[in-house]
Amino acid sequence: MQVKNNRLYNNDGTSVEFRQSPNISSGIKDIRFILLHFDAASNSTSAVNWLTQKASGVSADLHITRDGKVTQMAKFNQITWHAGKSEWKGFTNLNRYAIGIEQENMGMVKGVYQDWTEVQIQKCIEVCKALVKAYPSITAILGHEEVAMPRGRKDDPGPKFPMERVRREVFGIISKTTTSDLNLRSGPGTNYLVLKVLSRGTSVNVLSTNGNWSNLEVGGLKGWVSNQYLK
Ligand SMILES: [Zn+2]
Repeated sequence: MQVKNNRLYNNDGTSVEFRQSPNISSGIKDIRFILLHFDAASNSTSAVNWLTQKASGVSADLHITRDGKVTQMAKFNQITWHAGKSEWKGFTNLNRYAIGIEQENMGMVKGVYQDWTEVQIQKCIEVCKALVKAYPSITAILGHEEVAMPRGRKDDPGPKFPMERVRREVFGIISKTTTSDLNLRSGPGTNYLVLKVLSRGTSVNVLSTNGNWSNLEVGGLKGWVSNQYLK
């Protein structure tokens, strides 16, 4: 898949189904994150209808069904309404920053979370890869439950969604840190800001390298470390 002019296309060049939702804010989204959800709906038709009708007051950029069908409901630079009151690492009201992906899954039913389908997970990964390629400003794939305020307000996409696998497959290969107190920096050099201090043996996803520095993702945070401390 690929993104052109904020629209998503299949590998054969056809556009995914596009149904514009009226539920958008004015302004242009400052794309930083992908925010994943489940739709808590019993079928995909009603979910997409809901997300594209004015009365619902909600929307998302994309919807993915259990059999992997993708519908786009707004251009990716439009501000859709899916995050609600939310906060993550100093960013608030994440609708302004996040591409929202609703996915067909009922969530908790009679005390048990519904399973996800493999084809749906693979489509989510494929879509996220296309988005990360099109928008290098995307630094993290987050779950609604991780950002909703107050914490605990939302439980999607929930414990059965393979968030670590999605992050790993989208962002790259895994490596481990070989020293304690390793500085994760905002750029490839010791003059850049320290974002986080990593302990020895931390698993990280290596995204790319630049000279003696590696760009990596760890726990949803993206930054740089010196290559010599990775194996
Ligand atoms: Zn949600």
